[in-house]
Amino acid sequence: MESIYYNESETINIDDIKQVAQGIREGKLALFPTETVYGIGANALDENAVKKIFIAKGRQSDNPLIVHISNINMLEQIVEDIGEIERKLINKFWPGPLTIIFNRKSENIIPNNVTAGLNTVGVRMPSNKIARTLIELSEVPIAAPSANVSGRPSGTNVQDIIEELDGKVDYIIDGGSTAIGLESTVIRVVNQKIEILRPGKITLEELESVANEVEVNKNVFERVIDKPVASPGMKYRHYAPNTKCILVYSKDKEKMINKINEIANSYKNVIVLGTEQNLKNYIAKNKLNMGTTLEDVGKNIFTLLRKADKYKADLVIIEGVGKKGLGLAITNRLIRACEYNLSLIHISEPTRLDVI
Ligand code: AMP
Ligand code: MG
Repeated sequence: MESIYYNESETINIDDIKQVAQGIREGKLALFPTETVYGIGANALDENAVKKIFIAKGRQSDNPLIVHISNINMLEQIVEDIGEIERKLINKFWPGPLTIIFNRKSENIIPNNVTAGLNTVGVRMPSNKIARTLIELSEVPIAAPSANVSGRPSGTNVQDIIEELDGKVDYIIDGGSTAIGLESTVIRVVNQKIEILRPGKITLEELESVANEVEVNKNVFERVIDKPVASPGMKYRHYAPNTKCILVYSKDKEKMINKINEIANSYKNVIVLGTEQNLKNYIAKNKLNMGTTLEDVGKNIFTLLRKADKYKADLVIIEGVGKKGLGLAITNRLIRACEYNLSLIHISEPTRLDVI
């Protein structure tokens, strides 16, 4: 396994990336940073290379991978048609943390295992310089899911995932902590309407600037186990630490703090993940600081979920952040990390996450 490290201040050494790009062309796997989370990448045109990703992650074969590209030519090679709204989305949000679902080319240039047999393919152009350079130099699109063993929190720095992925990839490019820390927003356009299949850094509010109608797919906040869903990833346990977690949120701050303390009181050994502004109010001995803003929470949450496990607590109590802006994506991840163990939060119907 080859490892390449970059400090934030360092410029990328093209020769290093060239070596990894050559490996990608030869069917090898590379761990690399994007602006969202780390990815485990392989040549998206090589079925055997892609197979190795599923094995490395222990990922279900019906859960499709996102194809990462570095220019629009690559997109035109793999998708059938690019609609007007998709073009607007591309102009506004690419390169960046938005995955768009397209109809894939009928010639099946992208192998079936990438799309889990679907006629559609999810594509994204990352803005992270290392990721873009790697794709550019590989001269092929790179299929890359989040870097973690399936079910675990996504990797936002190499240290967090090195153990669980040790020996499973051929190259590691360490580019420090990822800037956003949450996975991309996944959308599809249906009848001029944008449908969010996975909330992410590009918010519902931002998407509303491109289409008149934007809605969150009804399965996003639903606990789906065994029925067809628009995006197969919705079905699976995800983002979860090994310790049991509970998510607590109320718009009424006092009510939320009291509830968190009440739960903490009824367990012997808990750890609380809270925002900096509220942390001092929690009675628990063990507390981890999620930061002040939604951006901080997004950036820190996966690494903190992993860190929480180290305390061997009976319960991880997580302060929620509501559903406005980036809050929607954070809440989506936290609900699933907690496996729907919620307090003061009420999911009334699949489409609506009601916070009381
Ligand atoms: P990950 O790469 O681990 O961040 O997960 C990628 C997510 O994108 C999964 O939840 C998939 O279900 C979703 N996805 C990828 N391709 C498609 C597609 N063609 N249609 C719907 N969802 C997709
Ligand atoms: Mg993932």
